Amino acid sequence: MRIVLLGPPGAGKGTQADHIVDEYGIPHISTGDMLREAIKNETSVGLEAKNYIDKGELVPDDVIVRMVKERLGRPDCEKGFILDGFPRNLEQGRALDDALNELDVNLNSVVYVNVPEDVVIERLSGRRICRSCGVNYHVKYMPPKEEGVCDKCGGEVYQRPDDKPETIKNRLAVYRQQTADLISYYEDRGLLVEIPGDKTVEEVTREIDARLEAV
Ligand code: ADP
Ligand code: AMP
Repeated sequence: MRIVLLGPPGAGKGTQADHIVDEYGIPHISTGDMLREAIKNETSVGLEAKNYIDKGELVPDDVIVRMVKERLGRPDCEKGFILDGFPRNLEQGRALDDALNELDVNLNSVVYVNVPEDVVIERLSGRRICRSCGVNYHVKYMPPKEEGVCDKCGGEVYQRPDDKPETIKNRLAVYRQQTADLISYYEDRGLLVEIPGDKTVEEVTREIDARLEAV
């Protein structure tokens, strides 16, 4: 199964990807996670990406496309993958098509998690993440049992710097200007499956499961 998860930042793509990974046993490829890891490890990609991420801008396409192509070529992607956070604009959408053509495979589905902007803002502002294992929390909807401490590994639970109000505003503007175009790009090719994301995590999961079963 080869899936792209589309939707605004904070729609719940990462949350739902964790479930799809369990269900289908395919890797979750989040370009945001890969870039944050690169920043942590102070690689050349990380150093270049940091300035863009801090401002809520997109990292240049050539950097991202190179990174994703390398990742899709690894053996664990042979049985499929879930892409989360990529593609982010039409240029990246076309680059993904080229990369898949080279690998002689197709996308099965593009799952568009549609969530209104006020809900997304509330989700992003309340999002917290474990610095060690990456598990995600929400201060209101999924708080850790002890504030600031990960239930799973005891690591520090922190707020992403780009989940602060000013950066959120810019990320949503970038989404509207650049990423939203991909909805019709995939709709025109009959790949788009739209899921209303303004429901509980479990309800959204059930709906995605039902729609993917039909693919
Ligand atoms: P994305 O990967 O699309 O940016 P996340 O999966 O990180 O979004 O979710 C953003 C925040 O919203 C997180 O704090 C997550 O715990 C919370 N969240 C995700 N799905 C839901 C939901 N259905 N209801 C309430 N909160 C949610
Ligand atoms: P995310 O974790 O998906 O919310 O991404 C966090 C940030 O990483 C974004 O605001 C961008 O700066 C950068 N980023 C992630 N994926 C991409 C991408 N496909 N293209 C460009 N920048 C990206």
